Amino acid sequence: MFKKVLIANRGEIAVRIIRACRELGLPTVAVYSQADANSLHVRLATEAYCIGPAQSAQSYLSIPAIISAAMAAGADAIHPGYGFMAERADFAQLCAQHGIKFIGPSPEAMKKMGDKATARKTMIENNVPVTPGTDLVETVDDVREFAKKAGYPVIIKATAGGGGKGMRIVRNNAELESNMNMCRQEAQNSFGNPGVYAEKYLENPRHIEVQILGDRYGNVVHLGERDCSIQRRHQKLIEEAPSPAIDEKTRFEMGAAAVRAAKAINYEGAGTCEFLLDHDGKWYFMEMNTRIQVEHCVTEMISNIDLVREQILIAAGEKLDFAQNDIILRGHAIECRINAENPEKDFMPNPGTITGYVTPGGFGVRVDSHAYQDYAIPPYYDSMIGKLICWGRTRNEARRRMYRALKEYVVMGVETTIPFHQEIVEDEVFISGNFNTGFIEDYYKRKNSKQG
Ligand code: ADP
Repeated sequence: MFKKVLIANRGEIAVRIIRACRELGLPTVAVYSQADANSLHVRLATEAYCIGPAQSAQSYLSIPAIISAAMAAGADAIHPGYGFMAERADFAQLCAQHGIKFIGPSPEAMKKMGDKATARKTMIENNVPVTPGTDLVETVDDVREFAKKAGYPVIIKATAGGGGKGMRIVRNNAELESNMNMCRQEAQNSFGNPGVYAEKYLENPRHIEVQILGDRYGNVVHLGERDCSIQRRHQKLIEEAPSPAIDEKTRFEMGAAAVRAAKAINYEGAGTCEFLLDHDGKWYFMEMNTRIQVEHCVTEMISNIDLVREQILIAAGEKLDFAQNDIILRGHAIECRINAENPEKDFMPNPGTITGYVTPGGFGVRVDSHAYQDYAIPPYYDSMIGKLICWGRTRNEARRRMYRALKEYVVMGVETTIPFHQEIVEDEVFISGNFNTGFIEDYYKRKNSKQG
């Protein structure tokens, strides 16, 4: 087992990882920017190092700063969480060169999946259905050619994209050139890689993803799916497991496809295969995330498996101690992302100081958060201040518990998504389970037409 684990992240996920380490008896090292000196992860870790100024590029994304902190502290493993360094194969490689274990898949597996165009190729080779699309494209003509065959709309995507960035929908030939240029530009600016490709754009599909775990001995299992169709600007807001739209047969087939994909690249650790489910029940692979995801908790609640603990054990060379047949999914779990944002103003970020803070509790309620009373939310990072996760024996029980817990959750001093979530979980379409990625837009249309 490791001697000491450095957490190369901040916020709720850093707290989440520290908790898993503590339970395994592992000392932890927090790193933080000057803007995060009062952050909860700094207080909870065994020791903490300031690694630079507020700007992520000079702190949480600074490879020399992170590796130096690990060396100084004597950490022999680094957990990257999500975002920041989590999908940087070059970082994983450097960790290895410094004798530090990167808690995640090998750099080779990351490269194969981190790049979306390459991931599509790997999937096609392994008989996993992908959305109709192209390889990396050079010119506008390449996309026009594809659109002629597949029909509009198409979506142009940055091969290095993530977090809902680097995607442009094109609805006709006239929009093509300018949208492609904008996508390339955004890809270069945000990800330092201008590579783009095109896919058929499915109108309002459901977003379904499958959680997998693999060890270095070739054992791979899946832990069922999550439904992440409630999104704004292609970013998830509410996730649940299982999906109300998936039957046993589809669950089995999607699970098998995800396991096949993971085995094909000798995948080690926790990972997620994302799929789009069309209105006619057809599903297509979209991408693989080679890290822990924000919404991993809903899977934990129905599988009773601590995914972060498993990540650490797998990285330390242990064998998975359960097989596919041992995994029993029980009940239903829903997660609401609590963001310091104003839903009334198009989800504009709303940093500030939390002047009052009371978290909900009780049976089946989990809060993963780094927030506390008097915490000043820095404006430099993402606006999520926590996640509220509720479990129930049925979807409706989980949903009602979520409503109850949201009513108990008090965050004063900043606007949050809590009132918005209260409305959504009581909405008739949400209750029906029959929705897709167009839900939020449709919700506001319905709300405005009622108001009048
Ligand atoms: P990111 O890596 O930024 O999260 P994804 O490729 O996972 O991007 O896509 C995020 C979301 O964008 C999906 O959940 C879906 O809502 C939408 N999307 C992506 N590709 C398509 C497509 N081909 N058709 C329709 N919607 C899509």
